[in-house]
Amino acid sequence: MTLTTRTTREECAALDAADPLAAFREEFALPPGVIYLDGNSLGALPVRTPQRVAQVVEQEWGHDLIRSWNDAGWFEQPYRLGRRLAPLIGAGPQEVVVCDTTSVNLFKVLSAALALRPGRRTVLGDGEAFPTDLYIAEGVTGLVEGARQVLVRPEELDAHLDADVAVVVLSHVDYRTGELLDMPGITARVQAAGALMIWDVCHSAGALPVELGAAGADFAVGCTYKYLNSGPGAPAFLYVAERHLAAGPTQPLSGWFGHARPFAFEPGYEAKPGIGRFLTSSPSLLGQAALGVSLDVWERADLAAIRAKSLALTDLFVSLVEDLDGVEVVTPREHARRGSQVALRHADGYPVVQALIARGVIGDFRAPDLMRFGFTPLYLSYTEVWDAARHLAEVLESGEWREERFSRRGEVT
Ligand SMILES: *Cc1c(COP(=O)(O)O)cnc(C)c1O
Repeated sequence: MTLTTRTTREECAALDAADPLAAFREEFALPPGVIYLDGNSLGALPVRTPQRVAQVVEQEWGHDLIRSWNDAGWFEQPYRLGRRLAPLIGAGPQEVVVCDTTSVNLFKVLSAALALRPGRRTVLGDGEAFPTDLYIAEGVTGLVEGARQVLVRPEELDAHLDADVAVVVLSHVDYRTGELLDMPGITARVQAAGALMIWDVCHSAGALPVELGAAGADFAVGCTYKYLNSGPGAPAFLYVAERHLAAGPTQPLSGWFGHARPFAFEPGYEAKPGIGRFLTSSPSLLGQAALGVSLDVWERADLAAIRAKSLALTDLFVSLVEDLDGVEVVTPREHARRGSQVALRHADGYPVVQALIARGVIGDFRAPDLMRFGFTPLYLSYTEVWDAARHLAEVLESGEWREERFSRRGEVT
């Protein structure tokens, strides 16, 4: 076995025994025999979620019917969840609301940000960003006279911060490489150039402490189905800094839930004061109920302990796999530049990941050649990380990934 590990499985078991977060594992319903390293794509199911969602369906909807809008607090839910989520992203309670999807929320905040910088027409984005962010920016700039999106890499940003830049949109953690950007430093430089900063925190919310307020971020968007474990299609969130809310920003998806008096059914639009003007439609209450359960778990977890364990798990995995044949560690080694995932480049990454999945080690693949492994400290143990690394070594050494069935591609990778 060519595992060049300095850490033994016994040492990992000792780390598990001393892990202050170990008890959180029981909060999640993971199937036996699975080592789940894809919580950065779809978080695991919290054990209390099925019962809570069933209660909303059977009692609040089935029995209480329309009365639940008031009696079960449905109408207030996007705000209540926003207030509960705020501490996880370093925001004030009035600066966050839960609604729609990340893409739709980016459409809204980017439109609002462009309108706050009249005369400036460039949106800077990262050419390697999660593509939906780029597609949405294309859509928004296509609607504004003279506006355009310019794609640069984050390290080239400063050279492009000229007097035409209205807004910069960046992901706090790169979805492919797992690189963590310097949120306060970049935000300060963007604002010094007169532009506004939008952060996409899809891959950092729930994975590490995010400090939007301390960094002075203008806007942010993020999802709840990755590290926040709220289930497929669960609603996203958006953040608007208090100073912008006070100025009454406008956004074009002016649906009735953002109206000052939705139940007055007036023909003209008048935006709600505060974060509510960023709402558009009826909340998706089943997904919101699942988020409520996740936040019950998160409210008992210490983000500093989560970050410490995440770094220890990713350090461990990197040290166990870095010398494997044909494997290149793409994720930055420095803690300050690493999110909660490890990306490994391998020319045959796709079939290697499929062979791992067949062994019960679930990671995923991002074209053209990256194997992604997400590390979720609330439900992952050191021993599982050790076992996952051993499986990867065995898959590569045995060549079992060459079996034809592992090269067949599904719709979702
Ligand atoms: C997962 C993810 C999204 C998801 O967008 P949806 O509209 O919620 O499907 C957007 N941006 C980034 C960076 C992501 O990682």
